[in-house]
This record gives sequence, structure tokens and C-alpha cells, in this order.
Amino acid sequence: MTEEKILGQNSQTRKILPFISLSKSAIWSDAAVPQNPLPGLYIDGNRPKAPNDIPLTHPDSFLTTFHMHCLMTYLRSLAPLDKYTRPLTTFEQVINHKTLPQHGISTLYGVLQNLSPSTPSYVVKWETDLHQTFTEEEWTQMFTFATQCFTATRAQETAYKLLSRWYRAPSTIATYSAATDASCWRCGAQRADLLHVWWSCPVLQPFWTLVHDAISKISDSPPSYTPAAMLLHHTPFSLDTYRNSLDIRLLNAAKAVVPRHWKSPIAPTFREWLDELQHIRDIEDLLHQSSSTTAKHMRHWFYWSKPACSPLTIQ
Ligand SMILES: [Zn+2]
Repeated sequence: MTEEKILGQNSQTRKILPFISLSKSAIWSDAAVPQNPLPGLYIDGNRPKAPNDIPLTHPDSFLTTFHMHCLMTYLRSLAPLDKYTRPLTTFEQVINHKTLPQHGISTLYGVLQNLSPSTPSYVVKWETDLHQTFTEEEWTQMFTFATQCFTATRAQETAYKLLSRWYRAPSTIATYSAATDASCWRCGAQRADLLHVWWSCPVLQPFWTLVHDAISKISDSPPSYTPAAMLLHHTPFSLDTYRNSLDIRLLNAAKAVVPRHWKSPIAPTFREWLDELQHIRDIEDLLHQSSSTTAKHMRHWFYWSKPACSPLTIQ
């Protein structure tokens, strides 16, 4: 038996403990040692097994004791002994299988999903920023609005990026580098965080006010003028009611134009918002044109299409 079989295929192990190979027959009983000995063969929990508990040819010899001491010293230098015999993780069990698992991709996807905490980190950060807590149902609903309720994928992507705090505010970037300016690129406010650059910045506030005024003129139940409602789609309405409303389209269009002026002192204009809305409507027109959902689509945009509510009238 070679030392690789005893200590594994690690070349560094072979380099550090060459002397083990000199008298391996004195340590291991070739007949008793399995082909691929696992650490549990010579480690019990967080300590080495006694030589008499290991299948050794001469367990009581000085040389055996010396080699075992060298081996344990080396293993301890790599990791605590109890780490060698810990239960395998699900991923390791999958990898350890000799054959490919059934539904392998689904299995690995499940493993990856379980690695993620059930509550995303951005949930706590938003609640801290907004000084407001939301129930699990409310978060589930906001997550659904930001990921699954919109056909215009570019605007949908912006909504999701904002919810998941993908955008990096000046105050966040400054934590990576002390030389970075942490002030707002629009108003110069110090320590500008995500809520500031997306909502409370005085240069951006007139844009949100215009958007909210426009929505209020054509919506029976406009969203409240809060960052939770305007940025995260926090609404008292049910999932179906809100996803079919005009509000979600108007708000997603507004959010889609804000990053176009990222790191620019200029806020988006009302006209840019209207153009984005028209773009979203064009996409929905195409999608519904040849389907049986045209009537539903027309209902989504009904109030926006009425002459009294036309963009020019609102403006
Ligand atoms: Zn600002």
C-alpha cells in the first residue's frame, strides 16, 4: 500500500510527511486498512484514536507512536480534528456519490436555495431605512410585484434591482474606499444613502411629486406618497387587484428612468417618464395584440387612454 492510500492524494501531505512511507508497513496492517481510509479510522471526535483501536501491525511500538504524533500534528495544523469527522453536508453527499444523482440539477438548485438565508439581507436594511416593519405576507407581495407582475422586463428589472438594493449609494461605496466621496451627486448632501438618492434627495423630489400628482388624477386609490408605496409597491390591495392596476405600470415607469441619470446632477423629467410609459404600453400592445387578452389589456390602460387623462392634459 502506498502512502497516498493512507493519507489521500494530497501532494502536500506526501511532501511534508515523506518519512511515513519509509516504514508504512510498521504502521498499517495492509490487510486491515480499507482501500480509501476515511479520517474516522484514526480520529474519534476531536481527538486521535488510541493506536490499539486502529488496525496497526505494531500498535505499541515507539515508531508507531511517533508517526501517529507527526500525523496528528500535521492534521491539527490544517484544521481542528473534529472537522475531519463532521457529518457531510448535502452538497458533499451529492458529490461523494459514485453515480450521478437523479434530477441532479434540481437537487443542486435545492442545495443552493437552502444555503441562502430565508430572509434576504435587504429586508432588514429597508425596514431600518424606512423606520417601518412589514409582515412576511407584505414582503412576499412586494417581492412578487417586483419580479413577476410586469411584461416590460427592463422596467421590471429596475424594480427588482431597487428592491434588492443592487444599486450602490455614495455612503455604501465610501465604506469600500475612504478616498471616495460619500456625498450626493445631485445636492451634495453628506453620507447620501440609497433612500436619499432614490427618494428624499431635494433635486429628485419634484419628479416624484409630479408622478404622484399624475397618478392621483387618474387613479381611484392612488398609492400613498411614501417611499414604501412609491418605490417598493407596498399597497393595501390584493395581489391580483394591484398587478392589474395602472398604478404598478406608472410607478415602474418612473423607477425605470431614475437610473438613467445616475451620478448626474440632473433629475429625470416628466417627459422622460411619459416616454417610458409609452414604451411599456407599446410592449403590452404587441403582447396582447394577437391574444385573447386584449380586453384585459385595454382595461389596464383605460384611464390613461381617456382624453381627459391623456399625458398632455396631465402635464
Ligand atoms: Zn441629494
